Amino acid sequence: MVLYYSFMVQNLLLQHSSEKLHLKIDIYDESGIGGGASGIAGGLLHPYSPKVRLLWRGAECWKECLKLLKIAERVVDKRNSNYHNVQLDWNLCESIIRRRGILRPAMDAKHLDILTNNAQNCLPSCKIESIDKDAAEALVPNIQVPFNSVFHMPEAVNIHPLCYLQALFLACQDLAEKNSTSSFGGKELFMHKKSIDRLCDFEGEYDAVIVCLGAKADLLPELSGRLPLRTCRGVIAHLQLPDNAGETYPDHGPSILSDAWLAVQGPRDILVGSTWEWKSRNYSSVVSAEEASTALEQLLPKASAIYPKIKDWSFVGAKAGIRAMPPLTSFGSLPVLGRIDDLVVGNHSCKYWFFGGLGARGLLYHGLLGKLMAQAVLFNDETLLPVELTSWKK
Ligand SMILES: Cc1cc2nc3c(=O)[nH]c(=O)nc-3n(C[C@H](O)[C@H](O)[C@H](O)COP(=O)(O)OP(=O)(O)OC[C@H]3O[C@@H](n4cnc5c(N)ncnc54)[C@H](O)[C@@H]3O)c2cc1C
Repeated sequence: MVLYYSFMVQNLLLQHSSEKLHLKIDIYDESGIGGGASGIAGGLLHPYSPKVRLLWRGAECWKECLKLLKIAERVVDKRNSNYHNVQLDWNLCESIIRRRGILRPAMDAKHLDILTNNAQNCLPSCKIESIDKDAAEALVPNIQVPFNSVFHMPEAVNIHPLCYLQALFLACQDLAEKNSTSSFGGKELFMHKKSIDRLCDFEGEYDAVIVCLGAKADLLPELSGRLPLRTCRGVIAHLQLPDNAGETYPDHGPSILSDAWLAVQGPRDILVGSTWEWKSRNYSSVVSAEEASTALEQLLPKASAIYPKIKDWSFVGAKAGIRAMPPLTSFGSLPVLGRIDDLVVGNHSCKYWFFGGLGARGLLYHGLLGKLMAQAVLFNDETLLPVELTSWKK
C-alpha cells in the first residue's frame, strides 16, 4: 500500500488497522516532511470561520486536532529529553504549540452583530468570549478595538506547523516499529523523497494509493483539469522587533485574526499573513524581494489597523505556499475526497483515492478527515466518507 504523503492519513492508518493486518506503507514526497503548504502555514488553529461561525463538523475536527497535538507533543518531549540516543535529519523545536488564544476584533457594526450571533454557538471546548476594549488592552496593550468589542478564543492555539508535522511523522515511525512484529501482522513504514510523475506507474505494485499532493495534484496527467480545485498562493511575512526598539508583544498575548492575521511566535517575533493570489502557478516556497515588497504593501496596513505598533517591527523574511481551494458549498468550502479509479487507466487491481482541497483550513481538517479516509481505504468502502466531501464527483 502506498500513501502519497499525508501524516494524518498514515498516522491514522497505523492506528486503525487491525492488529493482524500486514501493512506496508510507502510515502512519496518530492520535498520531504512539510515540504508543501502544510510546512509554511500560519499555524492558527480553531474550529471557526472568520465570522466565528462553527465550521462543518467543527466539534469533531477540533477534538481530533487536540488528540494529534497531544501525540506530537509527547514525541517532542520524549525526543528532547533523550536526544543523545536519536539521530534526526532535523531539529525538533522545544515547543510546537503556543497556547495563548486568539483575538477576533469586530471591524464594523454589521460585523459585530454577525459575530455576536455566531459566537453564541461556540464549543465548550473552544469558547468564544466577547470582551471590551479594556479587557482586550489588558491582553495586548495598544490593540485597536473599533467597536469596543473583541471576540476572545482562549483555547485556540498557534502551532509551529513544520515541527508538528515532523513530530507526527516520528510518532508514526514509533508506532510502526512497535507493531512491526508478526504478532501485530507486521507494520512497515517507508519515506521516499521522490517525485511522482504518473499514477498508473503504481498499478500492480500496491493495493491502494492515496493521492495527497496538495495544490500540485492537478499537475499529474491523470488528474489535470479534472479536480474542482483552484490554486491560491499565499505569502507570509516574518517580522521581528529590533533589540533596542519599541514595545515587545506580551509573552502571554494572544494571536490576532483580522483582515490580516498576526501569528505571534514570541515577544519579538510575529508572522503576518496572508496574501491571496488566485490562479497562481508559482509553487515555490521562496519569495523574491519584489514579491515580498508587494505582500508587505498589502499586509502592513491591515495589520497596523488593529495593532499599530507593528510599524516598529522590521521585516526579516517571507515564505509562501499554494492552497488548493475547493468549491463553496452550502456547508462552506469543504475538502474534496473520494475514489478516483475511473480517472486512472489500468485493470484497477490497485484502488486510487484522492485526499485534497483542504483550502485554508488543512490544520483543522486533517485529523478527522485523515481518520475517515483511513477507514474508507482499509474497508475499501467510499460510503464511509461524508457525502458532502464526495459529492464533487457527481
Ligand atoms: C500562506 C498560507 C497560510 C496558511 N495558514 C493556515 C493556517 O494558519 N491554518 C490552517 O489550518 N491552514 C493554513 N493554510 C492552509 C494549509 O496550509 C493547507 O490547507 C494544507 O497545508 C494543505 O495540506 P496538503 O497536505 O493537502 O498539501 P501540502 O501541504 O502542499 O502537501 C502536499 C505534498 O505533496 C508533495 N508533492 C506534490 N507533488 C508531488 C509529486 N508529484 N511527487 C511527490 N510529492 C509531491 C509536496 O512536496 C508536499 O509536501 C495556509 C496556507 C497558506 C498557503
